[in-house]
Amino acid sequence: MELSEEVKRQLAALSDDFTHQLPFRIQELQKALLTLRETADIQGMKNFRLMVHKLAGSAATFGHENLSLEAKEFEAYLEGFIENANAPARSEWEKIERYLEQLKTDAGGVDDLEELQAPEEIAEPLTTEQDVRSQYNPKSIYLYGFSIDLVVELSKQLGFYGYTVKVLPGLEELEKALESGSSQLIFVHTRQFEVAEGFAKQLSRLKKGYTKELYVVFISEEDTFDLRLGSVRAGGDAFYVLPLDIGQLMDKIESLVNREKENPYHVLIVDDDQEQVAYYALLLQQAGMITSVASDPMKVLSVLVESKPDLILMDIYMPGCSGTELTRLLRQHDAFITIPIIFLTFESSKERQLSAIRQGGDDFLTKPIKAENLISVVSLRAQRNRNLRYFMERDSLTGLLNHSNLKEQLQREVMRCSRTSLPLSFAMIDADHFKKVNDTYGHLTGDRVLKSLSRILQDRLRRTDILGRYGGEEFGVILLNTDAEKAVGIMDEIRSNFSRVIHHAEHQEFSVTFSCGIASFPAVKNASKLNEASDEALYAAKESGRNRVLHYDKISKLA
Ligand code: GH3
Ligand code: MG
Ligand code: MG
Repeated sequence: MELSEEVKRQLAALSDDFTHQLPFRIQELQKALLTLRETADIQGMKNFRLMVHKLAGSAATFGHENLSLEAKEFEAYLEGFIENANAPARSEWEKIERYLEQLKTDAGGVDDLEELQAPEEIAEPLTTEQDVRSQYNPKSIYLYGFSIDLVVELSKQLGFYGYTVKVLPGLEELEKALESGSSQLIFVHTRQFEVAEGFAKQLSRLKKGYTKELYVVFISEEDTFDLRLGSVRAGGDAFYVLPLDIGQLMDKIESLVNREKENPYHVLIVDDDQEQVAYYALLLQQAGMITSVASDPMKVLSVLVESKPDLILMDIYMPGCSGTELTRLLRQHDAFITIPIIFLTFESSKERQLSAIRQGGDDFLTKPIKAENLISVVSLRAQRNRNLRYFMERDSLTGLLNHSNLKEQLQREVMRCSRTSLPLSFAMIDADHFKKVNDTYGHLTGDRVLKSLSRILQDRLRRTDILGRYGGEEFGVILLNTDAEKAVGIMDEIRSNFSRVIHHAEHQEFSVTFSCGIASFPAVKNASKLNEASDEALYAAKESGRNRVLHYDKISKLA
């Protein structure tokens, strides 16, 4: 991975900060040594050794090799006193002083104690999850070469899935859009092969010329070998024959653009050393990941309960609780058993590395770590965990969260809302007369309808909403920061959109509706009550005629 100039500049700035703060660090060691000589207790010695260890690690990270080696040797020397639990003799104190003097020299000299000021805390260069989400673009599809009738029809059907269409007058426009740097999706009518000479060449040139993807779907009145071949040569990713099965088409589009849609990896960095945290956070963010930081190991659990990171980058030596202890503690919770934990430390002893992995760690990175190594190890592990989690937590037909995970999430979100005093709504959806759909058009067609419902839900809901398949033809939606009235509005719009989607069975077209029941927090107090109340509202929606959205507040007032 090549680092950009901007990142190189920021890294250099971090490294400068470290160099500036070095005298202060050495001074702290001096102070600690003074105290240690007075008390000479084992705990004091342990703390002192930890300080030296940290210095060795961060010096290596920021390119002070001599200092790092010296500190490492110093640390090994101190280790002896801890292992044997004995206080240094006078000659040994002198040796310790000499080590410290050497560190001072390596650090470029340290002034008198009084003159130095404690450095200011480094601002953490953190991106919040919100920032990344707000960059999410609405989706649009370019249409090229279609008749007015078809444009109208496509715009209507694609609209149900949250896409807007734009008619493209010429490929120059498309080139401009690509220059703006975002990926594009274009539907081309195969008629262009006949009317526009050189069209295929122009299109395939566009496709090759840009770093951002251009996805091309050809749509044709007839299905011939020549047309298909022509479409492949022009760079087509897919070929569909009219009349279109929109559900199938959406499947394809999704598989084409999904790679890009995937959320960035979220990495939790557990380290008490601010400078190193800033360094790792910067590298990972540069690679497109989101980072959060727990500088106090005792607070990690609460961070984990609220956000499920894809991976934890864990320092080993921290005050209060070591990284390996913390790992063992996390592994006691079922929910955290699969989160990959990578230890990051200045620890070259293979034996210790193995022992750390035996405590439940997944991997070990030794400082100093090359940017490329850090990023590739982190993204490989995170990717693998995502894949695993995907199959563990999701339903295989729709790819939505499964029942137990949706329930777990509802609990988590209700807990969060009680703290933030924000509203939340829970909606239950059940397809109407679905048994009849299966009986009339077959089970496979029924499956396709369920998939299209799940897709419309995914596309129409906000990225922060949480969606799951409750079972069979039932779905559940957690609408965050959404009160009763807003929730009814959102769900009713989805209901109306879905009811107008045309589904295809062999030579037949039909549509399907759903009923929906909603309950809201804080009027309803906890997760299981929300479940019951929304189910009751759903039942009432069915009873009163189906194809409608009912809120629990309304029916409980009636009762
Ligand atoms: P109602 O309007 O009262 O909800 O009528 P319904 O027929 O939808 O309700 P019921 O609960 O009696 O039947 C649900 C049907 O949904 C039965 C089952 O065949 C169908 N179903 C459940 N899961 C799946 C699935 O995964 N695929 C398909 N194709 N059908 C499913
Ligand atoms: Mg049902
Ligand atoms: Mg049903």
